[in-house]
Amino acid sequence: MDNCIFCKIAKGEAPSYKIYEDDKTYAFLDISKDCYGHTLVVPKKHCENVLDCDEETLSCVIKTVKKIVNHYVKNCGFKGVNIINASGEEAQQTVFHLHFHILPRMSKDEYDAFPSLCGTIAPFEQQQELLKLELN
Ligand code: AMP
Ligand code: ZN
Repeated sequence: MDNCIFCKIAKGEAPSYKIYEDDKTYAFLDISKDCYGHTLVVPKKHCENVLDCDEETLSCVIKTVKKIVNHYVKNCGFKGVNIINASGEEAQQTVFHLHFHILPRMSKDEYDAFPSLCGTIAPFEQQQELLKLELN
């Protein structure tokens, strides 16, 4: 995709602080500096998000996420990680090239990666009726 900033970063045509690269994926520091080590993992092949991504590409991205989070906890002194993805404008996605956010966590780093939500009064039975999916 010509105008996609993450395609450009993955091809080395736009600057980034690279963390890891293989033939299918690329990981780099998020520009926001909103927390220490905020990392993005993207496929080199353009897709918008989890919804349109083919399974093979998605599994390559997830494998890289796992590689990086294991490295962060084993070798870099972090104690845990949050892994976050936004798929779709309504889900607050802002860059429309698939990416997973990794937030490496320290004990007492004192930020909340799970802000409290507004709640729902819908009964579980109603939610289950709408959402359930049969094995196929
Ligand atoms: P999302 O809102 O989930 O689509 O996240 C997009 C993320 O991309 C945000 O956290 C931005 O800070 C980050 N971002 C946007 N442009 C760049 C860039 N050129 N280099 C690194 N991170 C970027
Ligand atoms: Zn792209």
